[in-house]
Amino acid sequence: MTISEFELIRRYFANSEFQFSRSGVELGIGDDGALLKIPADRLLVMSMDVLVESIHFPQQADPRLIAQRSLAVNLSDMAAMAAEPLCFTLGLTLPEANEKWLAEFSAGLLQMARQHNCPLVGGDTSRGPLQIAIQVQGLVASDKVLRRSGARPGDSIYVSGHLGDGAIALLCMNLPSALGEEFAMEQQILSESDRSHFLAAYYQPEPRLELAQALAGLATSGIDISDGLAGDLGHILKASAVGAVLQLEKLPFSDAAMHSLSASNRQLAALFGGDDYELCVTVPPALSAQAEAAASAVGVPFTRIGEIVEGSGIRCVNPQGKLQDFHREAFQHFR
Ligand code: ADP
Ligand code: MG
Repeated sequence: MTISEFELIRRYFANSEFQFSRSGVELGIGDDGALLKIPADRLLVMSMDVLVESIHFPQQADPRLIAQRSLAVNLSDMAAMAAEPLCFTLGLTLPEANEKWLAEFSAGLLQMARQHNCPLVGGDTSRGPLQIAIQVQGLVASDKVLRRSGARPGDSIYVSGHLGDGAIALLCMNLPSALGEEFAMEQQILSESDRSHFLAAYYQPEPRLELAQALAGLATSGIDISDGLAGDLGHILKASAVGAVLQLEKLPFSDAAMHSLSASNRQLAALFGGDDYELCVTVPPALSAQAEAAASAVGVPFTRIGEIVEGSGIRCVNPQGKLQDFHREAFQHFR
């Protein structure tokens, strides 16, 4: 590296801007470890996501956007547990100490960190292929945790925001996705403004932290949709030993998705595409009105898409009530 490892850390990560004060963080970057104070009435939540060049973002992607996405997807996991972000650590491997790249990456990361009051408290830096590993810490009261295991028959299934945009963005960028050939064909007719909508949805997903807090105590289970609704709702069903009926016509889509994809491809993107970072939660009927009001108070679209039933697996029905089988499975890296 042209600048030393220590100088790189000092200039781009250990600077005074990144070391903003946050209650609970007693000591951030600079020693052999960070020191955190966990209040007696809170659980510490930890989660990690690794982003790899050419798999999670294209080689030439804007470093600011890579940074924002890296932290946002981790914060989305905090939302999925209904936790409040506390701080994060960064494991960075870089092929070379490109200072222009580092300056932009650091600026993007700092912006996201400040926005969510989540300071960088440590990490490790090494030469290697470009990879960004972030571990985020959060706090949650034990009776407010949103687990995957609490869904019960009769609960309504809700999702936040819009589905499918992240998966369409992957195709725009020629990154690996679970969606097949039909999609590659359709993206050629995307307008520039639709393209930029999908890319923004991909690089700057909004972690649904506020919504999750508002739903804590109302939702019986929750997850963030990173691998497609079918796979992630599937995790809730397995953990809760229940099944689900989804009403396909209720799946919420952005305007861009509405006018650039056919209905069946939109459904495939929502169910099997992934990278949406929206929340999927289950709410008992008696609390549904309260949950809908809570979502509306924080200004996040919140759509009822189906119901938890006894049994296992997901049954998708069309508006005529007919069962629809997609013959697909959720995206997995090593399939
Ligand atoms: P050690 O040799 O004790 O592991 P390092 O020399 O790797 O320490 O790091 C020195 C300090 O800089 C530590 O506080 C560490 O947490 C921090 N640090 C290293 N790399 C990063 C990074 N990419 N982002 C944030 N902090 C970092
Ligand atoms: Mg080290």
